Amino acid sequence: MKINFIKNKLKTLLCLVLVLTCTFCIFSPISAFAEKSLEELRDEYEKIEENIRENQQNLNEVQGEIKDNKTKLDKLNSEIDDIQAQVDILGNRIDILNGDISELNGSIKTVTGEISEINSMIAQIEAQITEGEILIAETREQVLMRIRENYMLGGGSTLELLFGAEDITSFLARKELVDRVSEKDTKLITELTSDLVELNSLETQLESEKLELQGKRDKLDSDMSTLTARQDDLQSSMDVQEAKKKEATKKYEQVEDILEQLDEDSEEYKAIIKRQEEERKIIEAQIDAYIKEHGSQVGDTPDEEYNNDGDMLWPVAGKTTMTAGYPAYSNGNAHWGIDICVVGATGGTRDENGRSYSLGKPFRAAQGGEVIIAANDDNWNYGFGNYCVIDHGDGTQTLYAHAQTLYVKKGDIVQKGENIGAIGETGNVTGPHLHFEVRVKRGDSVSRVQPLDYVKKP
Ligand SMILES: [Zn+2]
Repeated sequence: MKINFIKNKLKTLLCLVLVLTCTFCIFSPISAFAEKSLEELRDEYEKIEENIRENQQNLNEVQGEIKDNKTKLDKLNSEIDDIQAQVDILGNRIDILNGDISELNGSIKTVTGEISEINSMIAQIEAQITEGEILIAETREQVLMRIRENYMLGGGSTLELLFGAEDITSFLARKELVDRVSEKDTKLITELTSDLVELNSLETQLESEKLELQGKRDKLDSDMSTLTARQDDLQSSMDVQEAKKKEATKKYEQVEDILEQLDEDSEEYKAIIKRQEEERKIIEAQIDAYIKEHGSQVGDTPDEEYNNDGDMLWPVAGKTTMTAGYPAYSNGNAHWGIDICVVGATGGTRDENGRSYSLGKPFRAAQGGEVIIAANDDNWNYGFGNYCVIDHGDGTQTLYAHAQTLYVKKGDIVQKGENIGAIGETGNVTGPHLHFEVRVKRGDSVSRVQPLDYVKKP
């Protein structure tokens, strides 16, 4: 994950800050400089140079990180906006759908009410029909019973009953009775049957209405299912978008935290660099003051024993390369000398096994003179490691740093081309090389100058 990468990077940077802060803390206070030798002042100067260079690199790195993170933040912001827009659209759709569903629910309720009303009407009619049917059956039964009774009385049929009359008066009276009974029953049965037909037709009509309503209800149910399914779909889309938004917001907050931390780091580095630059200026002034008082200057005549012929020699014999020049490294940070490495047949500084061609090879005095500084104590010496300075008596001085060991000591007179030490990697280096500087004192001014104006690579 990117976040993890940034976190790791951040950890590394924070460690660097701690290390650098500690390194800075062990610097000697400025007030002690007045008591220090030229070597010590030179040491401190170089150390501060190195520290400033490192801190500047770290600052650049942090500022690069800040820029990257700001870009990431912008991207996340627009991502969140996009997701929010989608969430809004989905929210609107869900609102509309909820309205549709509640409308549909109302319709379903109405239709269901109508159906139940019709159902109860049907039930009523069915009860009436049943009642009518029973009444008809009973009436029929009564008529039959009456006829049976008459028959029993006369011992025969209605005709027998009629014809069994003793006289015509009796016959007429009997006929009238039979007619009346028959007429009444027939009328009753006809009426009842007609009622029954009517009720049946009503029931049929209601059944058909009920079917119609049932169809409507089915249609509404199916619409409802469709809407509910759509609502579920939208809700799950909504959930997905909400989750995405949550994740993006979390990422945004994380990047914001990192940015805040990086801003703090950046401020810290700026403060360290500012302090170191102030220290460097003071030490440089101290070194200049020392040389102004004790060093030879342009116009002086060198001691005869120096055999100073005026032309300096490239300080390393054999095939070499310059890996860093004056007055700055390729990254733009200050570098007041040149770095020289011994190379192999193919031009590389290391062999196929990664061994340096430079390590242990001798370096030599660029010109005759007196060794005025020689530190061969394998100490850090504020970045120079083992190093020496030769005063050539004519206002020029040369410095040789990071030696594996020195062959000379303070006060020695050396000749031009004489081996004075072995190339090493003591002090603040990334690999074995010779760091070579030329200094010129002219009148009241002392300056570190372009060594390539004095030595030419063979
Ligand atoms: Zn160097």
